[in-house]
Amino acid sequence: MPELPEVEALAGFLAERLTGRAIARVLPVAVSVLKTYDPPLTALEGRTVTSVTRHGKFLDIGTSGVHMVFHLARAGWLRWQEKLPPEPPRPGRGPLALRLVLDGPERTGFDLTEAGTRKGLAVYCVREPSDVPGIARLGPDPFDEAFTLEVLAGLLADERRQIKGVLRDQSVIAGIGNAYSDEVLHAARMSPYKLAARLTGDEISVLYEAMGSVLRDAVERSRGQAAGTLKAEKKSGLRVHGRAGQPCPVCGDTIREVSFSESSLQYCPTCQTGGKPLADRRLSRLLK
Ligand SMILES: [Zn+2]
Repeated sequence: MPELPEVEALAGFLAERLTGRAIARVLPVAVSVLKTYDPPLTALEGRTVTSVTRHGKFLDIGTSGVHMVFHLARAGWLRWQEKLPPEPPRPGRGPLALRLVLDGPERTGFDLTEAGTRKGLAVYCVREPSDVPGIARLGPDPFDEAFTLEVLAGLLADERRQIKGVLRDQSVIAGIGNAYSDEVLHAARMSPYKLAARLTGDEISVLYEAMGSVLRDAVERSRGQAAGTLKAEKKSGLRVHGRAGQPCPVCGDTIREVSFSESSLQYCPTCQTGGKPLADRRLSRLLK
């Protein structure tokens, strides 16, 4: 799933190509993709794109008065198209979920696609980005100037959950998902199971620095990448996430994994948990 760095890079990629251009057509192909009905998607047609921005993991294509917002979810992606065919796409079993065509004879634009059967890709046509419930609920963004160490300390102060889950919770902090929470915790040398409220001032400070450097580095790597290469770039830059069984790039210990029903986390025992493997509840349940 694309997270803050990839969505930030996609926003930059799209801003360069869409700003100042008029939208000719927006064609939903998959039935379930559009989550709003007022204003209709056709309200975007004929309008000029004035901005492309990111809110957490949401992308926001702004025109005067109407926004098209989308969330790529687990398996959604954006494919830039230099030349789209004149005939409208037909609904079918392919991954194409929505097509946006810019005005002009060359018919450039993009396709939103989604692989797999678990559909999560969501498109909203709204008057204000905050009309999207997922955006209205977002916590502060790590790249916002207002996101200071004190703000982070305040967010964690009464938080009874484990830090891994807190970092992924979009209503606490916007933009970090399963992959970058693993990366931030590895950089901070912190156990994913640590209770957020029990972090000391020094630990919060280390976590804050790690969050900033991991996300900034990832954005630097992603910036200027074409939409098509972002996924590979994300994967190549990750140090522990998705790398169970491989050596930790910091200490050489074997990266381990804990599996849950919907996801898994990866960590380095030497760097993060004093050398002790974390309990894998699902595994221990199966062994009983
Ligand atoms: Zn390590």
